[in-house]
Amino acid sequence: MEKKLPEGIKAALIDMDGVLYDSMPYHARSWHQLFFDLGVKNSNPDEYYLYEGMKGADTIGMILKRELGKETTEEERNEIYARKTNLFKHLGDAKPMPGAADMLKGLKKLGINTVLVTGSAQGTLLNSLNRDYPGFFPPERRVTALDVKNGKPHPEPYLRGVEKAGVDPSEVIVIENAPLGVRSGKAAGLFTIAVTTGPIPAETFEEEGADMIFPNMISFAEWLNNI
Ligand code: CA
Repeated sequence: MEKKLPEGIKAALIDMDGVLYDSMPYHARSWHQLFFDLGVKNSNPDEYYLYEGMKGADTIGMILKRELGKETTEEERNEIYARKTNLFKHLGDAKPMPGAADMLKGLKKLGINTVLVTGSAQGTLLNSLNRDYPGFFPPERRVTALDVKNGKPHPEPYLRGVEKAGVDPSEVIVIENAPLGVRSGKAAGLFTIAVTTGPIPAETFEEEGADMIFPNMISFAEWLNNI
């Protein structure tokens, strides 16, 4: 696959978990624990990487229906999601993803603005952004789970990101680490770069239509800084 950015890119819409933070192992562990406590005894923590990007409440509804045949109300799902948030918080602070700061530096050098597009509503990580990546994601350039009706893989989060960037969709790239996130970016009609920072193989991202695939953030950052 030839690696080349389209001409005239002005904004990058950047996912958070697994791109800016090495937080996915913590998410997988807290999902696994949560569902175990709710009576799902046989889940595999790696499975949760597949649902990455979905709104937490949607993942809860899907798993409880599939594993326990249980229908849940929105209120119940939100309450259960608060428990998951709590489990996640107790695992400690997720570290910035190695290479992410260099990626942001590279984008800045190319004159590309940054917008956060995350399915998370996790206050702890959202607060850390100002500390770890100062100036890159001011509040007016963030799309979180609280700003959209439909989570990824629906195109809505990335379409909202294009609005916040204030540019044409053809001037935007998406940076994602999750198959459902790539699906969301492509459904929004955007040039989508996949960085495979978790256990999911590159082929899965090809199947989702990723325009470029990098094996980790460090190699993506190096490539960007050498354009
Ligand atoms: Ca992600």
